[in-house]
Amino acid sequence: MSDFFKPEKIQRIIIKISGEFLAGSKEIGYDNAILEQITDDLIALKKLGLSIGIVLGGGNFFRGGKEEDKGFDRITGDNVGMLVTVQNSLILADYLNRKNYHCEVFSALEMDKICSFYTPYNVENALSSGKICFLAGGTGNPYFTTDTAAVLRAIELNANLVVKGTKVDGVYSSDPMIDKDAEYYSEISYDEIIAKRLNVMDMTAFSLARDYHIPMKIFNITKPGNLKNAILHKNVGTFIY
Ligand code: UDP
Repeated sequence: MSDFFKPEKIQRIIIKISGEFLAGSKEIGYDNAILEQITDDLIALKKLGLSIGIVLGGGNFFRGGKEEDKGFDRITGDNVGMLVTVQNSLILADYLNRKNYHCEVFSALEMDKICSFYTPYNVENALSSGKICFLAGGTGNPYFTTDTAAVLRAIELNANLVVKGTKVDGVYSSDPMIDKDAEYYSEISYDEIIAKRLNVMDMTAFSLARDYHIPMKIFNITKPGNLKNAILHKNVGTFIY
């Protein structure tokens, strides 16, 4: 049982949700049932009075990255990946607005006809007025991931926690989908993750989180209601500190 996780101290969170999760049972695009579930889960959190920033991935449509054999330039691929994160944010924000929860989409890439431009000051104002803020466009630079964007935004916006939704319950000693004997950690330090050579997130995100002391909770987002439980309960998800 986690001793370090202190839910009562959490006021502002950055939630990272992969694009792949938005696709649900489909291989690509959006699963409406999933969008309903996520927005309900976000509203349940908002009702707790938390200040919420959301970073969405783009894997439901496109991932750039290393693969040279994709047939196009790395920067082109990464730019398209970042655009997808804006698209995903617009869709989820629309769902939330229709449920009467006010949100605003901020993009690290300027697109003033579609959404606001990300600066920490703009977002701070919107968060202070109670809006749920989507922090889209990743970091605004190729060669990064949205995990890194989530940690970077948490540092810039003084968030108390990064919450990362995955398909498994938290951090394990090995992949629990493959290894039945994988050991589950309810809490683990960044240093232990290095010592045990666990692969929890990309190294850039990991180094930033560790250097700037950003705690993180990894939880199973596929279970409805689990987002709120991961914030409120020590025994849901793995706390990384
Ligand atoms: N991306 C980027 N810079 C960033 C964030 C994302 O270039 O700061 C691109 C990169 O190509 C990445 C894609 O956007 O593969 C989608 O992001 P990510 O892979 O993190 O999405 P997820 O796997 O979480 O759905």
